[in-house]
Amino acid sequence: MTTLVQTTTSDIARAWVLLETLTDPEIPVVTLRELGILRDVREGTHGLEVVITPTYSGCPAMGQIEDDVKALLQAHGIQGHVVTQLAPAWTTDWMTGEAREKLRAYGIAPPHSTACEPQGSAQVVKFAARQTPNQVVNCPQCGSANTTETSHFGSTACKALYRCLACMEPFDYFKPY
Ligand SMILES: [Zn+2]
Repeated sequence: MTTLVQTTTSDIARAWVLLETLTDPEIPVVTLRELGILRDVREGTHGLEVVITPTYSGCPAMGQIEDDVKALLQAHGIQGHVVTQLAPAWTTDWMTGEAREKLRAYGIAPPHSTACEPQGSAQVVKFAARQTPNQVVNCPQCGSANTTETSHFGSTACKALYRCLACMEPFDYFKPY
């Protein structure tokens, strides 16, 4: 007797449709797919696998995301499990333009693109960026570049708290690492 779970292509297709609607537990206006967190749905050695990559290692929301994925699949009778893939590391380039616009509309400044950073030394570059957060973060309310970081850890560890010096509104900045 074997308990091998057969995964069919229709299961994978159904899982994609379901998971496309799953939003970030901290930012209910964007989906995990749009953020680039949901990487793949595939047939693994133990049935259906959902591959997710955290926006940065140690992101506390990942446990919640894993639970959400499992609960959603289970509710629709799909057997599957979650694989957290750390390499390649998530980059802001995986976030869709639509997700950036939704973040802005929601009052969160979207992360800067890393596209112009040199290739091959990602770790060094990220470390350097962490030490010198000199990039201009535009206010999501009025667009002003006259903003200042008031707390490196905002409402969640994944965001920094900023204040706009033009309209005086505080806002979250989605950190690009
Ligand atoms: Zn402003």
